[in-house]
Amino acid sequence: MASTADGTGTEIAQERRIVTEIPGPKSRALQERRLKAVAQGVGSNLPVYVERAGGGIVEDIDGNALIDFGAGIAVTNVGNADPRVVERAQEQLARFTHTCFMVNPYESYVEVCEALNRVTPGDHEKRSILLNSGAEAVENAVKIARSATGRQSVVVFDHAYHGRTNLTMALTAKNMPYKHGFGPFAGEVYRMPMAYPFRWATGADNCGPEAARQVIDQITKQVGPENVAAVLIEPIQGEGGFIEPGPGFLPAVVEFCRANGIVFIADEVQTGFARTGDMFACEHEGIVPDLITTAKGIAGGLPLAAVTGRAELMDAVHGGGLGGTYGGNPAACAAALASLEAIESGGLVERARAVGETMLGRLHALAAKHDIIGDVRGRGAMVAIELVKGAGDTTPNPEALARVVAHCHSQGLVLLTAGTYGNVIRMLPPLVIGDDLLDEGLSVIEEAFARL
Ligand SMILES: *Cc1c(COP(=O)(O)O)cnc(C)c1O
Repeated sequence: MASTADGTGTEIAQERRIVTEIPGPKSRALQERRLKAVAQGVGSNLPVYVERAGGGIVEDIDGNALIDFGAGIAVTNVGNADPRVVERAQEQLARFTHTCFMVNPYESYVEVCEALNRVTPGDHEKRSILLNSGAEAVENAVKIARSATGRQSVVVFDHAYHGRTNLTMALTAKNMPYKHGFGPFAGEVYRMPMAYPFRWATGADNCGPEAARQVIDQITKQVGPENVAAVLIEPIQGEGGFIEPGPGFLPAVVEFCRANGIVFIADEVQTGFARTGDMFACEHEGIVPDLITTAKGIAGGLPLAAVTGRAELMDAVHGGGLGGTYGGNPAACAAALASLEAIESGGLVERARAVGETMLGRLHALAAKHDIIGDVRGRGAMVAIELVKGAGDTTPNPEALARVVAHCHSQGLVLLTAGTYGNVIRMLPPLVIGDDLLDEGLSVIEEAFARL
């Protein structure tokens, strides 16, 4: 029996087990059925249908046990079906399922807001609002920034991903698949260069300061700082390819925002809740955002999202101006409280750092053997490799990526991809994954490169 990280509590054996080809016959049959029922626009990264999941394992309906390097896209940071999350949500569900906080409020919503105000960066007076999805949180952050400043423009960045609603499509950089054919998009959105160290023309060392100068110059010349309500950025870009901006970039942009009355919004929907080895990725460079959006890792898998920010900004919106029928659903709030407790009492911030060290160590060694690994990067348990054509040729290599990922999937490793050029393999294991499974998953990736 392989090791389970302390406190995982799952009854699922923490072992990879492959008993059929992947996907197995039952999954393939269900996939057939699905194609006649589910809209084709919804994809599935790896169509093995799930029976149960916990710790670092996803079990499918054919009896295979896969190693989870995806955590449902950085959602089940505390593990899938964490027993504390399940127990608290169940207890809540049995008392009441919904009243709508805007009709009859309840304590757990207030408690989650208190907790978010406590754990997010900065010790200033804060307020929070709860919503259903990351996109909805970003939409609300922009509404709040516009209302508080009386300005309209929003500045975003190359490679950004902020969601799939109309405004957040406009804020997102990549056309295919997120925006293609879905316009017209919301206006007053301005896109700026991103400090992308691996692809910065004058080299990674110059990237942060040079990119910041370009951004500040472009905002000044093309938009006018006095028109800008908000600068919105992921402190480490997620879907864009796990791009960690060059050092100095974020602090310079924040300083410019402060000097010009611009609301700085950190979109920590993917990076939040211990994922990057800090409770929030902003902490790494001591950034204190005016508003922060959270979702994915917030509630152990139940749908919940939030905007947290400076009281004077949050409270600038007129009464009744914010809300939504389901925002802050009581079961999701109960799950969030249990999940946060699991993160804090389980030492998952430290655990994310240890997971990251293991991954980066093995992947740097792998990169030394394979020229097509152009870059290995990441912070905490948010790690990626970017594939290129070869030594000195940084042309993206999505073909090699497809072969590596197909091999990993066939061997029972749930692995996700990302990147504007479709050439980034991203790793986001649940933070409670045991060391044995983590090592085994990395071995599967090494094998996949060896077979190329
Ligand atoms: C996933 C994501 C979103 C959108 O969240 P949904 O819950 O899918 O709407 C927004 N911003 C970032 C950074 C994300 O990773």
